[in-house]
Amino acid sequence: ERTPLIAGNWKMNLDHLQAIALVQKLAWGLADVRHDFSAAEVAVFPPFTDLRSVQTLLAADKLSLTLGAQDVSPHESGAYTGDISAAMLAKLDVTYALVGHSERRHGHGESDETVGRKARAAQAAGMVPMICVGETAEDLEQHGAAAIPVAQLTAALAHLPEGAEFVVAYEPVWAIGSGQAATPEQAQEVARALREHLRDLVGDERAARTRILYGGSVASQNIAGFMRQPDVDGALVGGASLKVDEFTRIIQFQK
Ligand code: 13P
Repeated sequence: ERTPLIAGNWKMNLDHLQAIALVQKLAWGLADVRHDFSAAEVAVFPPFTDLRSVQTLLAADKLSLTLGAQDVSPHESGAYTGDISAAMLAKLDVTYALVGHSERRHGHGESDETVGRKARAAQAAGMVPMICVGETAEDLEQHGAAAIPVAQLTAALAHLPEGAEFVVAYEPVWAIGSGQAATPEQAQEVARALREHLRDLVGDERAARTRILYGGSVASQNIAGFMRQPDVDGALVGGASLKVDEFTRIIQFQK
């Protein structure tokens, strides 16, 4: 009942011309292998400066890729130099907004409170917040794998109204960009704990419908193991999403 979602977070890579080239190649590649988008949704999260170009291409060629943004301002509009509002993103047909990526939490000092307000801003503008959670290596040692992700998710959801749709991305900080992915069993254990808590937080039905993705050194060689886990509904892919052939193989995880 949960459609798998394979999402590519480009981070701070590719200018708008490179973005167009990558999306075209990806779309051709997926057409070649006759990818069934109802079997696995595919989303790309380019930098802000690429969104308009990618949106224009997706619309012109009627491509089935979904668009996401890597961040969003918690503020509606006004004197917030450098911020991009949820309304601006929604206007560009952006479906998902990442909130609370570890590179924002740790690199930009974003608190759970800020992450929650960003999720709320995205949701209020009609987008679906993709709430990123994950423990550091130190957290893992001190608290086990699930405690911090569960606490981060609980804090973010306190800002969303009842019935709001969202996606969860579980990304252990130690697995991001390290080449050292979690094992499928580790990812399942935390995804299961997150879904268990979602039952209390948003009810059984919403918990059963909510997609929980794994992220952190996902590659074509390890994707199938994650996708076989009952509570893992997709992947948030960083580095490997910049290589068209590799990302296409990840999307084709069933094969
Ligand atoms: P890598 O796939 O490069 O480890 O990055 C994961 C990530 O942070 C996606 O948001």
